[in-house]
Amino acid sequence: MKRFWCRECGAITDHVIRKNRHSSEYGNETVLYCPWCGDENCVEELEPCPSCDYGWKLKDDHICEKCQLRSKDELARFFRGYSKPVREFFDDLLDGTSVEDLV
Ligand SMILES: [Zn+2]
Ligand SMILES: [Zn+2]
Repeated sequence: MKRFWCRECGAITDHVIRKNRHSSEYGNETVLYCPWCGDENCVEELEPCPSCDYGWKLKDDHICEKCQLRSKDELARFFRGYSKPVREFFDDLLDGTSVEDLV
């Protein structure tokens, strides 16, 4: 099953309107329309969130919005357990370093 999200009106929907069109500028292209507000090219395809299995995320995001908020919260709580100098050390440590390299 596919899901789409409209940037313009915020609708989340199972289906979009697809129209093929041809222009000299872009050649053949498929344009996606939002079924709710009717705007073109404002619909983004969503993917299931790999972290919570019930949320939906944008293609370019790693996890859904709820998981993003929760993870940020958990991270903040973790860092609050350290004094400021240690947090500043973490700051330097993470500067340009991938978290993946640390785990
Ligand atoms: Zn819309
Ligand atoms: Zn999620």
